[in-house]
Amino acid sequence: MPESGALQGLQMIFIGVIGAFIGSFLNVVAYRVPRHESIVFPSSHCPDCHHALQPWELVPVLSWLMLRGRCHYCHRPIAVRYPVLELLTAGLFLFTAYHTTYLPARIAWWVFWMLLVASVGTDVTSMRVPDVLTYPGAVIVLLMTGMAGVLPWGTSILGAFVCFLLLVFIHIISRGNMGLGDAKLYFSIGAIFGPALGVESLIFASASGALIGLSMRALGKLQPRQKIPFVPHIATGVILTAVFGHTWLQAYLRLLSH
Ligand SMILES: [Zn+2]
Repeated sequence: MPESGALQGLQMIFIGVIGAFIGSFLNVVAYRVPRHESIVFPSSHCPDCHHALQPWELVPVLSWLMLRGRCHYCHRPIAVRYPVLELLTAGLFLFTAYHTTYLPARIAWWVFWMLLVASVGTDVTSMRVPDVLTYPGAVIVLLMTGMAGVLPWGTSILGAFVCFLLLVFIHIISRGNMGLGDAKLYFSIGAIFGPALGVESLIFASASGALIGLSMRALGKLQPRQKIPFVPHIATGVILTAVFGHTWLQAYLRLLSH
């Protein structure tokens, strides 16, 4: 019916806008949590000139575009990660709303996306994924996945531990090049994806990291021992898995069974 179509469209616009505002909040979390600052006080301000921002400067994506990526007061550049993470959160919220109708399952996924986007933000700004995100995140994502029936409890718990232990193993053999923060984040990824898709996401993440790392090195954009933040690649692997994971996993299993 056209009426219900219009209603659905409105609902999607609403979810997209909420997602973008949550993305804006996650930018604040990503900047302040590694610095041990409060995420509530003081209100949003320019990190360079400390000018408090007006409401019109806090509209996700649009403010950044209107300001052409520069602070209105000191004209220093505002990092492109702000609109990127806002758009990403909106997109992930809409993706879940489109594919999942059961509200508790939607909420479980939305909470997971928030954890992932915040972790991308902290890794990009400070090269770390703080425990204050990953520990509560692991508990909440595991509980919500089970209670909302996203996965059976056993699959979720198995996925969480398989992924976490795999990453701890990689942390040890890479002599700390892969951080323990990444392993703690992978507990939540395994919890919501289960073991097979969780491992699949790690394969994509490694491929993405290797591709970008080697390209940057070839282009001379990296110092010999300089590390790159890995969580953006984890997020790439996770999103590819959320979108294509089931199809690719089934194709691979069919290939094996021939
Ligand atoms: Zn400024």
